[in-house]
Amino acid sequence: MTPKSLMTVSECRELVESWRLENLQVSLVPTMGALHQGHLSLVKKAKELGDKVIVSIFVNPTQFGPSEDFARYPRNLAKDFSLLEGVGVDAVFSPTANEMYGPDFQTWVSNDGITDILCGQSRPGHFRGVCTVVIKLMNMTSAQYCLFGKKDYQQFKIIANMVRDLNIKTQVVACDIMRSDTGLALSSRNQLLSESELEIAPNIFFALSTLLQTFSNGCHLVETLVDGFKNQLAEFEAIKLEYIEVRRERDLAEISGEIEEYAIVFVAAKLGAVRLIDNIELRL
Ligand code: AMP
Repeated sequence: MTPKSLMTVSECRELVESWRLENLQVSLVPTMGALHQGHLSLVKKAKELGDKVIVSIFVNPTQFGPSEDFARYPRNLAKDFSLLEGVGVDAVFSPTANEMYGPDFQTWVSNDGITDILCGQSRPGHFRGVCTVVIKLMNMTSAQYCLFGKKDYQQFKIIANMVRDLNIKTQVVACDIMRSDTGLALSSRNQLLSESELEIAPNIFFALSTLLQTFSNGCHLVETLVDGFKNQLAEFEAIKLEYIEVRRERDLAEISGEIEEYAIVFVAAKLGAVRLIDNIELRL
């Protein structure tokens, strides 16, 4: 089935309204394109939950800082379409930046709780752009469900908080991280890695896996776990660690000392010009 191609907000609304008249529920999967199996796992879940699935493909300019990789972010709409055709998506919404942000655009949504930590520290304004575009997409599609990957765990938490705080009727659903055979978390940005960088990149996950093993063996001390991670990565000079932090799952508060409740280990690192993120869950 070829997904219906929607370029404008009114096309999107018209289709959604016709579905509403039939009492059909919409699942939305917001993406920036350059799709991979991670995105497709969200689509699969979306199909289980809703009657109709819309995938949005929009490289959202407002979530990129001035010195970030907006211009060279991978784009391949034709390939994305054929991938989505294979998994039975009903519609693909791929608006232009102009369609999303008119010349008089002046209203933003931001979260005051957990945007300045982790990725928000090095990417000021990033989550404001994310929240704004996501609430717009939720409104345009009247989505009953909206699917997010845990790869961007902070993003998922911020969106879930936004939906809670602003009484949005959309249900936020988080999906597990999909990885390549090497363990590397799938990401559109992996396409920007050189061959040698691609070989080194899985070491981020290897070091996280060692950390998880140490945790499972009974060591629950944040400092020991973090030191072990850093030592393991130290031999790979090309990997420039931006942060490794252990935070409580429920509110992303930082943990030091003993881990006493469900926690997430967050990592961001640069490999050449490419910024990679990953995380693992520590459950007691
Ligand atoms: P992006 O196109 O990078 O903005 O990602 C769109 C959605 O796909 C986000 O909710 C991401 O968290 C999710 N996603 C990206 N990579 C993965 C992955 N490897 N596994 C699961 N979800 C992912």
